[in-house]
Amino acid sequence: MARCGPFLGRRRGYDAVTAVVFAFLLCLIVPSFRLPRLCFLAFAEDGSGRRDLRRVILRDEATARLNVLGKISDAEDHLERTFMSPASLRAGNQIHEWMEDAGMRTWNDGMGNVHGRVDGRNPSGKALLIGSHLDTVVDAGIFDGSLGLISAISALKLLNVTGKSSGLERPVEVIAFSDEEGIRFQSTFLGSAAIAGILPPSILNFADRSGATVRDVLMETVGDTSEKNLRELKYDPNSVWGYVEVHIEQGPVLEWRGLPLGIVSGIAGQTRLRVTVRGSQGHAGTVPMSMRQDPMPAAAELIVLLESLCKHPVDFLSFDEYCKDSTIEVLANSLVCTVGEISSWPSASNVIPGRVSFTIDIRAMEDKGREAVIYELSSRMYKTCDRRSVICTIERKHDANAVKCDPELSTRLKLAAQTAMKEMNGGMDQQEVPVLMSGAGHDAMAMSHLTKVGMIFVRCRGGVSHSPEEHVLDDDVWAAGLATLTFLESQIGSPFCVHTM
Ligand SMILES: [Zn+2]
Repeated sequence: MARCGPFLGRRRGYDAVTAVVFAFLLCLIVPSFRLPRLCFLAFAEDGSGRRDLRRVILRDEATARLNVLGKISDAEDHLERTFMSPASLRAGNQIHEWMEDAGMRTWNDGMGNVHGRVDGRNPSGKALLIGSHLDTVVDAGIFDGSLGLISAISALKLLNVTGKSSGLERPVEVIAFSDEEGIRFQSTFLGSAAIAGILPPSILNFADRSGATVRDVLMETVGDTSEKNLRELKYDPNSVWGYVEVHIEQGPVLEWRGLPLGIVSGIAGQTRLRVTVRGSQGHAGTVPMSMRQDPMPAAAELIVLLESLCKHPVDFLSFDEYCKDSTIEVLANSLVCTVGEISSWPSASNVIPGRVSFTIDIRAMEDKGREAVIYELSSRMYKTCDRRSVICTIERKHDANAVKCDPELSTRLKLAAQTAMKEMNGGMDQQEVPVLMSGAGHDAMAMSHLTKVGMIFVRCRGGVSHSPEEHVLDDDVWAAGLATLTFLESQIGSPFCVHTM
């Protein structure tokens, strides 16, 4: 071992762990300092050093970076990064820097997505895309989206410093998507949908709460807001081999199973609605109860109706050739409905509101069943509003069909996850990697319109997400990075063709 300079050899009494930690700290203290790749290669070729190098880059550095990214926020007291906000732009710059550190060629596109690419042996070949999102919800955790990006960048960095990235059979491109959560414009997947070519030009006219449109925001940040520019963001399907995403589970199953990683078989379809109920605005003290057209209790009744229907769809939906017995059974096992946002106008304690509006989020694994729920819900809601003499409008703000992950890609990812878990377990065989459905939407949904997709889930504490309580163990961050690395290593051709330096 050694050849890394006098301070890294055993002759001076340092063991491999001390040396690697010292080098890592040096990199942290002096950001511009880059250890010569020879040093990393020397560690990689040493038995224990190889494991230490993996630990340093895939766990220690990755968790440090997650914490750095988790502090880049538009709010002082919580994490918040929405589409193209000042913090999002700063986070994008940070991702750029880490991509370049991993030996990638980088650029931004016209929708604010950040790209980093390694060409491998065949620069014009079909590319493997790996991605997740850079934006967050309001008062977010630090792992949602960021973990997938950091795992991919860390795995590619390891391949770079060990001289293996030039042996990749195909280009590998990491994409940090600018919007997945849909917080700012109430429309999800702005970043990945643009690349998949499914983003309608009308999206440019969507406005945020301040009245600024997507077009305004893009004009300010990237400068080009033409529909032509939007269309040109679409990737040619013939240039892409597949899409992989690593993401926290956002549910409790992996923790319950006691395993750090799982494979995703599919993602539930989802619809977002906005319901607006209009009545007669008036004085809270002078209008008799019998003469009110109050939209607030009407909205409350509609919300309770939603809950009843989604808890017991079998009691509401009729069986016909469109909505079969089996459809309702699958639906009943996966259907979840949420009212997460409600507002009233003028929102004063002594005023009967003139208007109440709220959002509805409906998710299910069965697309026909989800449509049946929306149809039944809408018709019952309109009847309720008629009975209460208020006016209702129901707008569909977002739709995404359920997505099935590619079986072959999933098999490869499962093998990579199994290998990673085995390595972390000192070479001992692990339990079978669990296969899960995803109730949460992911960029993989949009990317499925472009190419085959596969996903790995990572255990998070208590299944908690979209909360500052969101937590992933350092070792599980390591497992995620190792699985990504192992999957990438399976994309490397004959070792005789790998350039070692
Ligand atoms: Zn996410």
